[in-house]
Amino acid sequence: MSPSNRVVILGSSFAGLTAALKIRKHLDDRHEVVVLDPRARFTFIPSLIWMPFGRRDADDVTFPLAPLYDHKGVRFINEAATKIYVDAHTVATGSGQSIEYDKLLVATGPRLAFEKVPGLGPAAGHTQSVCNLEHAERARAGWQRFLQDPGPVVVGTAQGGSCFGASYEFLFNVQHRIRKAGLTALAPVTFITAEPFLGHFGLGGVGDSSKRVGAYLDHLGIEGIPNSVIKEVRAEEIELEGGRLLPFKYAMIVPPFTGVDAVRESEGLSNPMGFVPIDDLFRHPKHPDVYAAGVATAIAPPEPTQVPAGVPKTGQMSEVMAKVAAQNIVADITGAKHREMPIAELSAICVLDGGDNGIIFKADNVLAHGIYANEHEPSAHVMGGPQAHWAKLAFERYFLTSRKHGMVAF
Ligand SMILES: Cc1cc2nc3c(=O)[nH]c(=O)nc-3n(C[C@H](O)[C@H](O)[C@H](O)COP(=O)(O)OP(=O)(O)OC[C@H]3O[C@@H](n4cnc5c(N)ncnc54)[C@H](O)[C@@H]3O)c2cc1C
Repeated sequence: MSPSNRVVILGSSFAGLTAALKIRKHLDDRHEVVVLDPRARFTFIPSLIWMPFGRRDADDVTFPLAPLYDHKGVRFINEAATKIYVDAHTVATGSGQSIEYDKLLVATGPRLAFEKVPGLGPAAGHTQSVCNLEHAERARAGWQRFLQDPGPVVVGTAQGGSCFGASYEFLFNVQHRIRKAGLTALAPVTFITAEPFLGHFGLGGVGDSSKRVGAYLDHLGIEGIPNSVIKEVRAEEIELEGGRLLPFKYAMIVPPFTGVDAVRESEGLSNPMGFVPIDDLFRHPKHPDVYAAGVATAIAPPEPTQVPAGVPKTGQMSEVMAKVAAQNIVADITGAKHREMPIAELSAICVLDGGDNGIIFKADNVLAHGIYANEHEPSAHVMGGPQAHWAKLAFERYFLTSRKHGMVAF
């Protein structure tokens, strides 16, 4: 009989929650599963694009974690990890707890690095964000002010950013809402992005995404500016490198991401950006008891770009990574078979909702080029139309309902 083990998971969102449920399901009761997260509720981040327009409230897109974990036999600690000591196999928390682990999964997502661009962000700057619940609620108050005093709108992803899908979706939704409010003539919309071309997504493009996305922006009457570098954001004005000024009454710019401080500041755990390196098992190459999944992982861009642009780790990709990491943690403990998932073999399903329309991308081996080139070829299916909106609604319903009831794929 194998000795009892404690698996500690940092973060309880797409990656951490999925992994916790899967690990709990496959380990017997001798083994303990512990989850830490400073957030008491799971938030379905993809729906935050609708919140500024009053299409969702917090209760629609969140649920409490403690009852679910209680029911499943997972110990939930509603606190952030403050430091990870990989040599000592312990995690420290803000309240002074020191938690030992046999296996650790880092699923702490991103830190929103607004400070990298002067004037960016809702706290110290002039732009909105929909990257977390608090920001989306604030972006709603800003939208109400905009409706009283409309004017130009700027949406985008800053240099060094990676979450391009979020800014495209917000862009399409903003345009949809402007049209519905009868403000099209008063509120021209501009899209700025670090991507080398529209529809690149930090992935090098997905099928004919460049053509599709360009055509959709044309159809909506939106100017898209790839290779954008924001020099500074001032009240109601963005200055791009090269001198172009973009006035705005409302701006939502997705910031660059780094890893969270607790990971970045823990010796030997991450790269300088705070992301955790991983091998084909989603395991740390130097610390075999440490795994990572989701946005917390270090995945280098397949090819360099003129303006720094990171690889997106979408919710669906984070879920896949979490399942692989979970299977391998269980395999370490039980002696079952490990599962390899080279970066080149990641698939991506990306739904760009546009309120009543949109584009769906489904790609296999999406990173199998550049530094990840192998015997596999990227392949993609792209579909445009109202089904994109329904696909996003289905994703929301599927993810919230399944996780709320503790359901996860075998
Ligand atoms: C506006 C928007 C729209 C999006 N739309 C889509 C979409 O349509 N489809 C899609 O697939 N993806 C979408 N994404 C991307 C998706 O939200 C992310 O890929 C996903 O949230 C990543 O999951 P994660 O678990 O890695 O990180 P996160 O979801 O960021 O979760 C990290 C968790 O770790 C916790 N944490 C942080 N620090 C600590 C610590 N020190 N100790 C313990 N816990 C900690 C956090 O509280 C959080 O709960 C969207 C993203 C945005 C911003």
